[in-house]
Amino acid sequence: MKFALRDYQSRDVQHIRNRFRQGDQAVLYQLSTGGGKTVVASHIAEGAVKRNNRVWFLVHRQELIRQFSEALHELSVHHGIIAPSFTPDPFMPVQVASVQTLVLRLGKYPAPQLIVSDECHHSVAASWDKIIRHYSAAKLLGVTATPCRMDGRGLGRHCGGHFDSMVAGPPMSELIRRGFLSPPRIYAPPVGADLSGLHKRFGEYKQGEVTAVMDKPVITGCAVDHYRRICSGAPAIAFCASVAHAEHVADQFRAAGFQATSVDGTMSDVDRKNRISALGNGQLNVLTSCDLISEGTDVPVVAAGILLRPTASLSLVMQQIGRTLRVSPGKDCAWILDHVSNVDRHGLHLLGHPDGDIEWSLDGEAKRTKKSDTEKSLRTKQCEKCYAVYLPPGPKCPYCGHLHEANTRKIEQVDGDLEELDVERFRQIEERRAAADKKREEGMCKTLEELQALAKRRGYDPKWAYVKWNMRRQGRSSGKGLFE
Ligand SMILES: [Zn+2]
Repeated sequence: MKFALRDYQSRDVQHIRNRFRQGDQAVLYQLSTGGGKTVVASHIAEGAVKRNNRVWFLVHRQELIRQFSEALHELSVHHGIIAPSFTPDPFMPVQVASVQTLVLRLGKYPAPQLIVSDECHHSVAASWDKIIRHYSAAKLLGVTATPCRMDGRGLGRHCGGHFDSMVAGPPMSELIRRGFLSPPRIYAPPVGADLSGLHKRFGEYKQGEVTAVMDKPVITGCAVDHYRRICSGAPAIAFCASVAHAEHVADQFRAAGFQATSVDGTMSDVDRKNRISALGNGQLNVLTSCDLISEGTDVPVVAAGILLRPTASLSLVMQQIGRTLRVSPGKDCAWILDHVSNVDRHGLHLLGHPDGDIEWSLDGEAKRTKKSDTEKSLRTKQCEKCYAVYLPPGPKCPYCGHLHEANTRKIEQVDGDLEELDVERFRQIEERRAAADKKREEGMCKTLEELQALAKRRGYDPKWAYVKWNMRRQGRSSGKGLFE
């Protein structure tokens, strides 16, 4: 093999090897989408093969076998393939195996000493588990951008997962700063979708409900308008709620004069590939899909992600956003057009900024407290004109240059003294943050007695607790302003 590793990749390879040497059976490697997980995993595999070991790469979707095989081929990793319609070559020390195929052929091939698994825990958990348990003597290297399960639980042994330890690559902000990923520009334009009544099943919003809310011409029309206004013509992927939704969205983009089409799992490999490469070579503006391209599809030129599927899964939204962050000549940013509050829901306002880096762990999402999410949302501002989410200070929206009314007045008053504006802005932010803290504290009071105790601590009129309590029981959220 003759590929050069980036500095952090060499460092991570070393860390992973150290974990195995220290006796860990299963190591999870976390690296942002676009950071080069396959390169790192291939390097580890190469080292293992040199010491006469057999290595299997588990791939969880049939359609990714060829893609993964090509990626290994580019890295000069020769391998056999275990999947339907491929002739097995069981004597190759490296195998790329489809989870669905392998689970039916357990014990039919010489057992591996190392299994490398890419995102398998997300979608084929049962078959994947079965394989890992069958070859329990093999070391396991899991690679993922988002180490958590659909329900937010972690992947560590202590959470019922498989992994003993985690090696985390550089945070996303560092990869952006060093030019390995494009900086995201987040916009959250409202499209009038009412997401308040969505229910969850197995940790994710019910698809039927999501489709019913989102698949409406007026909502899609609004999304098309925002695309035109913010990044007209930029190669975009629209993440939709169902196959039909994806088709309708593509229809509406076409009707508005854009080149658009949808892809889904029922299409042939060739058809799907053609549509994806049309996006890559500029024949298409917008590719729409419900699921298929949130993982594994590599089109670096994609510069915009249009989020039309509200999801409770941090993992999914990170994968969707990750699709847009690859670097490509002439591309200087990634537009994230979030029409479904995914950024807000998962506290991703500062994504790309050092303060927005997610600290992953084997404990899952549990460790990401609401507090830090709230702080992130309070520290950011949304432009009232273009809906960009950005980090103050600065009197202008950094993207469209819009000056907020309050700022315009201020500027006239202080004759362009930006210092003062910043102080004022930070004072406001602090105020909002304190208000949010207060509200959170109130929310944590579960009984009238606790509310009374809080009232006492804050020096409020004792009636406050009763009013608050009664309002809550009547389903109203706030008694603010009555006695405080
Ligand atoms: Zn703006």
